[in-house]
Amino acid sequence: MVRVRFAPSPTGNLHIGGARTALFNWVFTQSQKGEFVLRIEDTDQERSKKEFVDEILFSLQWLGFKWDEIHYQSKRFDIYRAYADKLLKEGKAYIERSAEGKEAVIFKVTPQKIQVSDIIRGNIEFDASTIKDQVLIKSDGTPTYNFACVVDDALMKISHIIRGDDHISNTPKQVLFYQAMGFDLPKFAHLPLIMGIDGGRLSKRTGATAISDYRKMGYLSEALVNYLLLLSWAPDANQVLISMPEAIKQFELKNVNKTSATFDIKKLDWINNQYLKNADPEKLLFDLLPQLKEKKYIGQGDFDKEYVLKIIKLFQPRLAHVNDFLDWADFFFLDQINLDSVAREKYLATNLSKEFKFFIQALEGLKEFNVENIEQCFRESVAKLNLEAKVLIHPIRVALTGKTIGPGLFEVIYYLGLQRVRDRLLKSMEGRL
Ligand code: GLU
Repeated sequence: MVRVRFAPSPTGNLHIGGARTALFNWVFTQSQKGEFVLRIEDTDQERSKKEFVDEILFSLQWLGFKWDEIHYQSKRFDIYRAYADKLLKEGKAYIERSAEGKEAVIFKVTPQKIQVSDIIRGNIEFDASTIKDQVLIKSDGTPTYNFACVVDDALMKISHIIRGDDHISNTPKQVLFYQAMGFDLPKFAHLPLIMGIDGGRLSKRTGATAISDYRKMGYLSEALVNYLLLLSWAPDANQVLISMPEAIKQFELKNVNKTSATFDIKKLDWINNQYLKNADPEKLLFDLLPQLKEKKYIGQGDFDKEYVLKIIKLFQPRLAHVNDFLDWADFFFLDQINLDSVAREKYLATNLSKEFKFFIQALEGLKEFNVENIEQCFRESVAKLNLEAKVLIHPIRVALTGKTIGPGLFEVIYYLGLQRVRDRLLKSMEGRL
């Protein structure tokens, strides 16, 4: 039975690297119909925080990974102690006393060559003569990461250890512990490092942000997962957009890249836009709802859901983040539009009262107020006024939306409705916007 584990230390939030590790464990175990164990490595009682555990669990759920079991190392100290005692009894470890009389348990390392066959990286050889004796239990009574990790991986019957490259140097030490305790070795697969676009380690500036922040910034979990998959793996035919079920069908650990990956937020944005284009507007509305209320775009109680859905659909093809909607579509919800000062300077400085009035009257004369008729009405108006379309199109857009860019103007006019269009154009003529 395939059993994998994701073993975060709750000394910080779940970041891109951790999410990628969790994802590869998830997609692999799903492809093998195996199990997914979540192990919270909270042995460092000072630095481990409940708020980080909460954030990690929430983010994993948001990404769509479901664990079959969850364990907390802080509840297993007796188990590690018992194994340390066993090693002491067998002469494989010794006690070291500090000046204050505190005792630590230390593992005796015997010089030897250690071979690790890694599914991704192939055979790796280590020389144990370069490894010092290893602390198993620190003088404060807590186990070290390497020791607790091996005891748990063995007792939890983990078949495959899939984790970041940064743990490669820990692997030979862990192999020594497996051998000393007589446990079977699991299979190892070390995922390549993720670098920032600047070629350095992923930093706050280059994307090392908490997963919960990506959610807040308006990324869809499906898009983020899709992007993280591509960071270290190429699906068949170099497909860029791939769903989870499809990835599970195609995935093989041995095909994971060996070379480091570069986290490129622009590519993530592109993928997010692809997912947003095809997303169910109802889902986007659900994601946006708290903020729509908070910004008072809609009331706390009932609101015209059909109308909001139509506005969402109008913006959907352009959204790079769900939240872009809040800035871009504000004028559909606010009485007082946010007028961009540069746009005002550029497009509303000249007096267009005569032209605006002409257009309002033409709109009022429409038999049916629909996008097609609005466009025709506009074209006829500029022709009669003997103007180029652009002379009027930009000022009208700025007067109605406060911005120079947005969805098609005729759709904007249609969804604002005649009343609001008239009011805003009049306000603009009177300099009251
Ligand atoms: N707690 C370790 C970490 O967060 C786990 C490493 C491992 O997967 O063995 O890096």
